[in-house]
Amino acid sequence: MKIGVLALQGAVAEHIQMLSALDTEAVPVRLPSQLDGLDALIIPGGESTTISKLLTDYSLIEPIRKLAEQGFPILGTCAGLILLAKKVPNLEMEPIGIMDIEVKRNAFGRQVDSFEADLEIPALHNGTFHGIFIRAPIVEKVEKGVEILCQLNDKPVAVRQGKLLACAFHPELTDDLRLHRYFLDIVTGDTSTTNLSRYSEGAPMQSGRPKNLTQHEVSGEESGDPSLSLRMTGKSLPGDADCKK
Ligand code: GLN
Repeated sequence: MKIGVLALQGAVAEHIQMLSALDTEAVPVRLPSQLDGLDALIIPGGESTTISKLLTDYSLIEPIRKLAEQGFPILGTCAGLILLAKKVPNLEMEPIGIMDIEVKRNAFGRQVDSFEADLEIPALHNGTFHGIFIRAPIVEKVEKGVEILCQLNDKPVAVRQGKLLACAFHPELTDDLRLHRYFLDIVTGDTSTTNLSRYSEGAPMQSGRPKNLTQHEVSGEESGDPSLSLRMTGKSLPGDADCKK
């Protein structure tokens, strides 16, 4: 199995590390030709306006849409979720637009725009999942065919539609492998509950905590592009430096 990680901006290396930890080949994707021969794609978190612009510049939107139409599995995390949604009222750029959901960017407001929460995600088994939310979106509406895997404050923060999986938080910034494991199970077509032992990797008891991450902090003023003011202490969102002025 070979999984591509969209490598235009954002938390690319962390997703590649998660896949390596699951003994799965992972390759960065920047060009349409690099989609050839992949079994699935991950669209990482970062800044959705930046990623969207780069997706357009690199002519990647149409090829990804075509693959999705053919049932190609895609996981989107945070900005990745935004880009998968068909409706994003507060995104000026064009999303890839392949999931029947409406998403609101930066949905948690400035006071709590970065926070952590233990989430109930029954599909992942073995207890709660530590969700790291960084200027996170929420799913405002889901259409028929979209399964809600997890809610926070009565709003969906993890959803699945066929082989498309999306979450508003950053599983790749923890050492809990279960969400990536679940995605790989979607890729192989085996999300049955018959072999739950595979979900014991990244067990939530000791792990599932943020990697070297102690505190998030937001600094600076909002300046048009909201991600410009995001900073985390301990560990920064990969690629975030790329879009800071
Ligand atoms: N707020 C960002 C956006 O709108 C997403 C942040 C993230 O991916 N952590 O794109």
